[in-house]
Amino acid sequence: MLTIGCHLSSSKGYLAMGKEAVNINANTFQFFTRNPRGSKAKDLNLKDIKSYLDYAREHRIEKILAHAPYTLNACSAQPSVREFARLTMADDLSRMEHTPGNCYNFHPGSHVGQGIEKGICQISEILNEILTPEQHTTVLLETMAGKGSEVGRTFEELKSILDQVVLKEHMGVCLDTCHVWDSGYDIVNHLDEVITQFDNIIGLKKLKAIHLNDSLNPLGAHKDRHACIGEGHIGSEALLRVVNHPALRELPFYLETPNDLNGYAKEIQFLRNGYSDSNVKNPA
Ligand code: FE
Ligand code: FE
Ligand code: ZN
Repeated sequence: MLTIGCHLSSSKGYLAMGKEAVNINANTFQFFTRNPRGSKAKDLNLKDIKSYLDYAREHRIEKILAHAPYTLNACSAQPSVREFARLTMADDLSRMEHTPGNCYNFHPGSHVGQGIEKGICQISEILNEILTPEQHTTVLLETMAGKGSEVGRTFEELKSILDQVVLKEHMGVCLDTCHVWDSGYDIVNHLDEVITQFDNIIGLKKLKAIHLNDSLNPLGAHKDRHACIGEGHIGSEALLRVVNHPALRELPFYLETPNDLNGYAKEIQFLRNGYSDSNVKNPA
C-alpha cells in the first residue's frame, strides 16, 4: 500500500492531525514542530500525544515526519544564529522522544558567502552536538533547490555532511522532487540515472522520505517554488513514476503542494489510483 500524506497544520495538536489525515485518505503526514518562522514551541500536551498514538495504531498511520522551522540556519556566519538553530533542533528532538520512531527533517542551511566547505562543517558540528546515542528519531537532511547559497543542492554536499556526523545511524535524507528538479536532476527523463547517482553517492538505504511536489520552474532553475501535482514542469506522469519506482515505492511520500485539505484529498486519490500494487503482491 502506498504511504502518502501531506503537510498539516500542527496548531490543534497531534490527534487533530491524525484525524485530518485519515479524513483525506492519508496514512501519514508532515507538520512543523513549531511556528515555521517563529521560535517558541507550545508546551507538549501529553494527553493529546497519548490519544494520538492510540488513534494512529488503530488507523494504521505510518511513520510521520516533523519539519524543523525553515528559518533556522545551522551554517549562518553569525554564531548567535547557529546557536539558535542548535538549541531549537535539540529541543525538537527531545520533544519528539514522546512520539518515538519518526523522522525529523531540516534544511541544511545557507552558508551566506562563507563557502560550501565551511557550511558543511558547521552543519555537521551542530548535528554532532545534538544527536544522542539513545535517541529514537532519525534526522533527515532535505535535498535543496540551490537558491542563493543553500547547502545540499547536490547529493555530494549531503554526503559530505553525513560523512562528518559521528552517530550516522540516526541520520538520513529526505528527497524533495521539486528541489532536486530545480537543482538540476532530471527526474522526468532520467529517473533511473538520478536514483543510481543517489545510490552511488549517498546510498539508497539512507533515503527515508520523499517530498512529492511539482515545480513551477524548469530543470535547474534553482528557484524552489512548489506546484500542484500535474500543474508544473515535472508533471503527473513523471511523479507517478517516482511513486511507483521499485527503489522508492515503499518510502513514505509527503505532499507539500499549494493546496487546501480538499486539494490534498484529490491529489492523494490520484496517486493512490496510479499506484500499482501488482508488483508487490506476495505470490506465497
Ligand atoms: Fe522543507
Ligand atoms: Fe520539501
Ligand atoms: Zn521547497
